[in-house]
Amino acid sequence: MRELTYVARNTVEWREAPDPKLGSALEAIVAPVAATSCDVDTAILAGHATRREPHIGYSIDPPFALGHECVAKVVETGDSVTGVSPGDLVVVPSSINCGTCDHCRAGLTAHCTAVPHMAMYGAPIGGSWGGLFSDLVRVPYADAMLVPLPDGLDPVAMASASDNWSLSWRLVAPHLKNKPGARVLVVARGSIGLYVCDIARALGASDVLYVDPKAEHRKLAEDFGARTAETLEPVRHGFDIAVEATGRVDQLALTVKSLAPEGICESAGNHFRPGELPLLDMYLTGVTLRVARDNVRDHIPDALDLALSGKVDPARVVSHVLDWEQLPDALPEKHLKPVFVRADG
Ligand SMILES: [Zn+2]
Ligand SMILES: [Zn+2]
Repeated sequence: MRELTYVARNTVEWREAPDPKLGSALEAIVAPVAATSCDVDTAILAGHATRREPHIGYSIDPPFALGHECVAKVVETGDSVTGVSPGDLVVVPSSINCGTCDHCRAGLTAHCTAVPHMAMYGAPIGGSWGGLFSDLVRVPYADAMLVPLPDGLDPVAMASASDNWSLSWRLVAPHLKNKPGARVLVVARGSIGLYVCDIARALGASDVLYVDPKAEHRKLAEDFGARTAETLEPVRHGFDIAVEATGRVDQLALTVKSLAPEGICESAGNHFRPGELPLLDMYLTGVTLRVARDNVRDHIPDALDLALSGKVDPARVVSHVLDWEQLPDALPEKHLKPVFVRADG
């Protein structure tokens, strides 16, 4: 089979790899049918996650198999697997988790103790699990990891449920539940911020301001009912909830300066460079800042439920639907949210 392999800055290519085989009765083999790029893949492709960047806590040097967002078809299951069967369409979570350790049972699926820390598809940080831009993928804990795609949801629209869509649900939905009608600030650069705008409006935010230099992104945010701005001018006590998804500390610093007393800021992370935050301002305002690798498997079902409700429209964020064979050429073009579809899927 072929794996789309990141080989050098802005360069990916198909490389042959052995077909994955079931390694235990708990496993499944799946074939991606619709896969998309995570916002962090742009940073990986640009070389921001390698040893040349001395500040980051981990290093992922090429070559490695890329991709950690897809809907797949189950091809084969081990004897103990009961949750899915061959032929089922499933969301494959971006991280690997066992479902039975203390952390998994507490919902901390990004911190599973049965596998190395940071075990995930598409980046060899916690072991090598391959990528989801591959013809076939081994899923080590099929019942714990795979989430059947509900009838009525489109694999193309939901390819991002593996990570960015479900992460976006978590960044804003629980906070809006605690503070109905909250004012939401979104400072972003890619798909996550746009999903957040959609979800925030659908769940009753009274005001959403979306900040992004790209006009094409701002247009989408406006379609979702957000106000937009090219750059962020801090608005004193302007927002109850803020989401930062730029990977830039200067933007995070401006974001927290716009929070109301006891406001909450979620940072979607991927801060590959160091920087300073206005901690005294944050102290005086009373800011809660969460910077967390997402326990995405824990809330994929909630995020799918919201999609199924019809109150949101994640398909609008999909910028291009492309053929699987176009991956090597089209992925480095850095479209907002290209979804690559298998013709035989
Ligand atoms: Zn990701
Ligand atoms: Zn676990």
